[in-house]
Amino acid sequence: MTQAGYPDTYYFATANGLEEHPELTENLQADVCVIGGGYTGLSAALNLAERGYQVVLLEAERIGFGASGRNGGLIGSGQRKDVLEMEKAFGLETSRKFWDFAEDAKAEIRERVAKHDIQCDLQRGQLVGMHKKSYIGWARELSDALAERYDYPNTHALSQEETRALVNTPTFFEGFLDDDAAHLHPLNFALGLARAAREAGVRIFENSRVTAYTRTDPALVSTDKGSVKASFIVLGCNGYLGKLERKVAGKIMPINNFMIATEPLGEERARSVISKRIGVHDSRFVVNYFRMSEDHRLLFGGGENYRPSFPKDILNFVRPYMLKLFPQLSDVKVDYAWGGTLSVTVNRLPHLGRLEPNLFFGHGFSGHGVSTSVFAGKIMAEAISGTAERFDVFSSLPIHTFPGGTMLRYPGMVLGMLFFSMKDKL
Ligand SMILES: Cc1cc2nc3c(=O)[nH]c(=O)nc-3n(C[C@H](O)[C@H](O)[C@H](O)COP(=O)(O)OP(=O)(O)OC[C@H]3O[C@@H](n4cnc5c(N)ncnc54)[C@H](O)[C@@H]3O)c2cc1C
Repeated sequence: MTQAGYPDTYYFATANGLEEHPELTENLQADVCVIGGGYTGLSAALNLAERGYQVVLLEAERIGFGASGRNGGLIGSGQRKDVLEMEKAFGLETSRKFWDFAEDAKAEIRERVAKHDIQCDLQRGQLVGMHKKSYIGWARELSDALAERYDYPNTHALSQEETRALVNTPTFFEGFLDDDAAHLHPLNFALGLARAAREAGVRIFENSRVTAYTRTDPALVSTDKGSVKASFIVLGCNGYLGKLERKVAGKIMPINNFMIATEPLGEERARSVISKRIGVHDSRFVVNYFRMSEDHRLLFGGGENYRPSFPKDILNFVRPYMLKLFPQLSDVKVDYAWGGTLSVTVNRLPHLGRLEPNLFFGHGFSGHGVSTSVFAGKIMAEAISGTAERFDVFSSLPIHTFPGGTMLRYPGMVLGMLFFSMKDKL
């Protein structure tokens, strides 16, 4: 951990607009108290302040300390489940609704970046590489479905040669290119949202962990040194929720995911690995994801664990995943290695809802949260300000409790995850 209270990541080393916010040491009143300073909380706070609400945001550590400041930065189109799976599970009409929501989520990110001039290296284009021969054909099927049923003509099925021309790994049999998906510097995006929220009037407090809140109207939200009396609470703690809200904790499973950043490769070598500045992930259940940074480092995410702690040597935990895809990088030094915690749901779709008329929550973005959490924050703000249409559709998604709830979810989940990661290898 750095002195500034952030993990020692490539993102922290290249952060811009880091601003210190005070700790809460008084008793305040507000219309809304937002708990959590990741994308969910920041987006809810910003959207509410723009609608004229008085907002206080309480973050236990620093803004973007959680997954929002540590992630791969990939902004995928659609939901975590592709539209073919969504259609099977919910039918075309519902699948289309959720596709449109995800398009709105991407648009919200683009608009925020432009409106607030957020310097977060937003780039377009994303490739999914198929790591199994048996997956050949999926890219064409999905691409056709998106063009025919979702008015989305921006994807292309690529042959093995075309895929390799973009990403120089021997491990992809086919590719799915989405010109309108994107990627960005995740911490700088979070810091930009925080600046926009401050400018809109949100009072932000860091190092202010919420210890409890009352289920009353108004509610009283307490930290060790202060409190906020508020008409509404928005809960955006995701994988870091802990025991703060037991009623929903069993719907999500915190899992840890890991990343490395290589030394700068130089533009030419970087382009020999990924020829355009697109984001990439593969088709594994435990997904490998990567892209080149602005200064030509490979930022690579791979491997996860399901324990309360990270592996001792994250660098050597992740590096073999990178070398399996890119053996040509065996001489390359790794400058940064870090982990982060996210939360997943049983069916990998986000869990949004309201526990009391004035207590909202959004979490469980299951590795697809860069855009979805920003959108969740926005539609919670809409719901609080009286337009709950999109929030109600989203919160109607069936999200099952993990078998065994919070007590026994780990053993079952670990077995499940191990099964799927074995399948990746077969
Ligand atoms: C390594 C990694 C890679 C990822 N890669 C991608 C990717 O490429 N694409 C993608 O779409 N998604 C990715 N994700 C997921 C994505 O980052 C998350 O879905 C998203 O950031 C969730 O935002 P959030 O605001 O809900 O949660 P977080 O960003 O985790 O924020 C929650 C915040 O709540 C605070 N908090 C918790 N408890 C309290 C309390 N009691 N009081 C006050 N504050 C509290 C925490 O300190 C934290 O800052 C990745 C996640 C990880 C960890």
